[in-house]
Amino acid sequence: MASNILDGKALGLELQDALQLQVKKLTAAGTIPALTVILVGDDPASQVYVRNKVQTCERTGIRSEMIRYPSDVSPAIVLAKIAELNADPTIDGILVQLPLPKQFDEKIVLEAISPIKDVDGFHAENVGALNQGSPRFIPCTPYGVMKLLEKGKVDLKGKEAVIVGRSNIVGKPMAALLLAKGATVTICHSHTADLGFHTRRADILVAAVGRPNMLTGDMVKPGAVVIDVGINRLENGRLCGDVDFASVQEKAGLITPVPGGVGPMTITMLLTNTVEAAVRRSLQ
Ligand code: NDP
Repeated sequence: MASNILDGKALGLELQDALQLQVKKLTAAGTIPALTVILVGDDPASQVYVRNKVQTCERTGIRSEMIRYPSDVSPAIVLAKIAELNADPTIDGILVQLPLPKQFDEKIVLEAISPIKDVDGFHAENVGALNQGSPRFIPCTPYGVMKLLEKGKVDLKGKEAVIVGRSNIVGKPMAALLLAKGATVTICHSHTADLGFHTRRADILVAAVGRPNMLTGDMVKPGAVVIDVGINRLENGRLCGDVDFASVQEKAGLITPVPGGVGPMTITMLLTNTVEAAVRRSLQ
């Protein structure tokens, strides 16, 4: 790979190897880290994500289970299952794959997960803790981005960080984490008047929009660190990010590819959070 690429696949595997050792030790001492993933409906992308999560758990020795429901399931059934998992002392992490079908209020479902098993870090209590600077679980995608920046030895203090996208799962927690490291943070969104004005002054640029190749080379400052969170499926079936890789790679100091950048890190940090929850259980 070219030298300015931040390789999330390689870093993910490196961190997973370390996790595997930790899981072995925990298991030998009587605590088997365990994750349950709930999948509702048959969204093809969600099925792929959940399968990857479960398979990667197995690779590291984390016990993982997928519970599937048809798309017309009543929310009461899913909420009852979450309550059962909350009370199960052998389960460390519970994850409900988003998006959920329209009969669900996602907020109610996410708040039903016990905050101590909320390995996605989406529960309001955990969001609050993150924003106060004492996180219990860091949301997996921004957590993975921070690990990539650490790997790239990117100094964040005093730097201009611009995030495009303000979702609860990526943009907002990303801002909290970069802020905590001393960056000056700007969050852009669909109403931002002049996107290029902001992106061109970014030392660190994070794209989390969901629009193929929307950030082009002319929108990037020379030498910037560009993190592409976007995962978009093109008509030809190929995956691409929100960043136009060819034109941006020429200008960027560091850049993450899609696939092979943030995606593998997201899964790795889910495993990290699950093991962290198991460590806390083992200390009880
Ligand atoms: P959301 O749809 O929740 O948020 C998208 C954000 O982009 C919104 O804040 C929206 O603004 C903003 N936006 C939309 N159009 C524009 C525009 N023209 N200019 C500036 N901002 C714009 O998406 P997510 O945060 O959930 O995901 C973003 C992308 O990241 C997707 O491609 C998703 O698949 C991917 N993803 C990848 C993960 C990984 O592991 N690599 C994990 C999670 C997501 P507004 O709020 O005003 O509507």
